[in-house]
Amino acid sequence: MEEIYPTGTGSARVSGPSAAPRSHTMELATSRHLLEPGDALATWLAEQGQPAWRAKAIRRWLFAGRAMSFAEMTDLPAALRGALESEFTLWTTSIAMHHRADDGTEKLLLELADGHRIECVLLRDGDRRTVCISSQVGCAMGCVFCASGIDGVVRNLTTGEIVEQLLRLARLLPAHERLSHIVVMGMGEPLANLDRVLPALAVAQHPDGLGISQRRITISTVGLPPAMDRLTAENPGYHLAVSLHAADDELRTRLVPVNKAIGVEAVMAAADRYWEASGRRLTFEYVLLGELNDSLEHARRLARLIGGRAALLNVIPYNPVAGMPWKEPTPEARERFIATLESAGINVQIRRRKGARINAACGQLRRLAAQEMSPKSSTVASTSPRMPPSQTAQ
Ligand code: SAH
Repeated sequence: MEEIYPTGTGSARVSGPSAAPRSHTMELATSRHLLEPGDALATWLAEQGQPAWRAKAIRRWLFAGRAMSFAEMTDLPAALRGALESEFTLWTTSIAMHHRADDGTEKLLLELADGHRIECVLLRDGDRRTVCISSQVGCAMGCVFCASGIDGVVRNLTTGEIVEQLLRLARLLPAHERLSHIVVMGMGEPLANLDRVLPALAVAQHPDGLGISQRRITISTVGLPPAMDRLTAENPGYHLAVSLHAADDELRTRLVPVNKAIGVEAVMAAADRYWEASGRRLTFEYVLLGELNDSLEHARRLARLIGGRAALLNVIPYNPVAGMPWKEPTPEARERFIATLESAGINVQIRRRKGARINAACGQLRRLAAQEMSPKSSTVASTSPRMPPSQTAQ
């Protein structure tokens, strides 16, 4: 079987997203981060005269044993543990905040080595233990209702930083529970950082990693056709979710500015090509914004656009972001919207809002924390988030 960290696959070079109107990426040196792809550990062990199987043993401690430090890897010789400690970093992030909601949703605000912050979430739903992870610091796509993109994109996350989110979230579970599903729906546009996201998801699937089947991994994209086609060609086994939010170019470009250079038709064609290659039902996401994209006519247009496909429509009522002018849809508008689509034969699901009280919608916690960290208050750790008055649990 292929190694969990195949050799020669990775440097920490960060390439900028291709369709990135507000991109200013930078490089981060994480060559000795144990979770980065590459053969640094194997090479170093060989230099130390250590048997090659030690690399696997160390990773087993990390992934299955949930070790937090080399010191906990008690079946390694003490001298080796000490040497590993000084050569390799296990954690490049620290937990700046940890919130837990009544429904079991937990959210981590992680501080990266360069001080930037990202969010990741653990959702509990029946037997499912789903994690929602980020792919970039910020986002370049500019969706007008999303907190993640307000300041544009800062940089891509490295593979190690993406894997680290998974490991940190897995450690929130009791020993007998395991992560079951992954959704790449946190901060950032994963298809603008496929070179880092795909190796991280390969680690998540590997039996020596987290052993999560590809079928249980969803990649959510704003719809970037060249990157969708790359996924179609290289790896169509993931569940793909495409964020539409509007069925016509005029409205979609207002809501999702990156659409201007792409167009709904090209997004749908790329989604169809992915479906043909994967045979897996597509998901289309539609954030329902009060009086903006929630009318009867919008529903009819959407039904015409996605009708006839093996697809699920995921309707997500807008989760208010402090300072943004958008409205939640009224219950009547929501019902009318869904009923119209259902009567046109569309398979509709309304996304239940989990963790609203802990600002679980992407990018919200990071902003709230930044506000709280104004010069007046320097405390970072907190377990009871301050809620904007508009935010109520559902
Ligand atoms: N960039 C990717 C993945 C991250 S966003 C994408 O666009 O799909 C994940 C989903 O959350 C997207 O469908 C996005 O539109 C939605 N979202 C962002 N902000 C939201 C908000 N305030 N309320 C509800 N959904 C939101």
